[in-house]
Amino acid sequence: MHSEVNPWSNNQTVDVDRLFAEFGIEPVSEVARRLPEVPSFMRRGIVVGHRDYNLVADAIRNRTPFHVLTGFMPSGLPHLGHLMVMKEVVWHVRQGGNGYVAVADREAHAVRGISWEKCREYGKEYLKALYALGFEGTTYYQSKNERLKDLAFEASTKVNFSELAAIYGFGPDTSLSHAMSVITQVADILFPQLDAGPAPTIVPVGLDQDPHIRLTRDVAYKLRLFTVEDRGDHISVRSKNAPEAAIEAVHRAFPGSKKYAGHVDVTGLPHGRVEDAVREVEIAHGGFGFYLPSSTYHIFMPGLQGGKMSSSVAESSFGFYESDRSIKKKVMAAKTGGRMTLEEQRRLGGEPDACSVYLLNLFHMLEDDVELADLRRRCESGELTCGQCKKETLERVNAFLSELRDKMDAVEHLAEEV
Ligand code: SF4
Repeated sequence: MHSEVNPWSNNQTVDVDRLFAEFGIEPVSEVARRLPEVPSFMRRGIVVGHRDYNLVADAIRNRTPFHVLTGFMPSGLPHLGHLMVMKEVVWHVRQGGNGYVAVADREAHAVRGISWEKCREYGKEYLKALYALGFEGTTYYQSKNERLKDLAFEASTKVNFSELAAIYGFGPDTSLSHAMSVITQVADILFPQLDAGPAPTIVPVGLDQDPHIRLTRDVAYKLRLFTVEDRGDHISVRSKNAPEAAIEAVHRAFPGSKKYAGHVDVTGLPHGRVEDAVREVEIAHGGFGFYLPSSTYHIFMPGLQGGKMSSSVAESSFGFYESDRSIKKKVMAAKTGGRMTLEEQRRLGGEPDACSVYLLNLFHMLEDDVELADLRRRCESGELTCGQCKKETLERVNAFLSELRDKMDAVEHLAEEV
């Protein structure tokens, strides 16, 4: 049976508790406390889980190198639903991360049949939005990145069809290009470490993308020449197909270490120091020295109409360049947590957690926690009517989009240069 959560399934309903229990995703609250500044998407419970984010949190705190990466599939124009990942990437870049953004044109072409020309046209809009939001770093189209393709080929030596069948439900009729696009995405996630050197890498994703993360971590592990295991009284550096010269180099790197067939035992040094030195040896002997990529998981903003937010449901979201008239119509028609009558609303108050207008503010339109808390209080006390609330929200949406569009226009040249 294939995984119930995969990025291409139509059913994006994700059972958070099950994912946490079954796949070892950890709640983000504990690790967020290690950050010098907790971003609103963590404070507000939008990002709920992580894998190995402690590596990234420590890099932020200690100002040591780390990478942040995401990819966008250019199968249509960017919209509200893409904003969260963009903000997460930009936030990490501002915390000192080396930013990478892949335009997944190979995936759009293979999986959705989008022409290369359209991929380029849509891809440019994603990049404009990212730059407008403050992104700095490296951006590329998968189809134009030759080193990425070589890395994808190397990664493909570590994945077989039964794994793809188990993760994505691939069957005998699945086009080979689907498999190639999966492995290209694996390479996307590892690419920053190839390009700028091994370092912790954060990949902010929605919970439905976890299969990609698990597969990539598995490939990163398999591409390593050594494992470094803490055995209590010593650290064991074990070879996984490392050439004899590399094992010998590890032995020489640690005076007093003992060399056996296929492994070297090191004593008296902290695990991190041994890891770093082994990584250097590995790279000097043709290995990659990859860190397993870290990930954070965010929940999805529901659609404005109350269902799922999706590019294929026009009223669920709005594009960044959509007309004011259309946006007004969508916001004013959004599903609220209001009561049947005004009298009831005044008496009982609204239900913000069941309201897409409130969630639009929580996700994107109200940056200030005090203002958001005030909106919640006014809603729950019955002081605010839904009509008034929508009007206020629409003003925020218009102000946000007008600023974003101006900035997108101003950075068009950056997106064109990619
Ligand atoms: Fe939603 Fe605002 Fe109505 Fe409260 S007052 S239910 S937040 S639209």
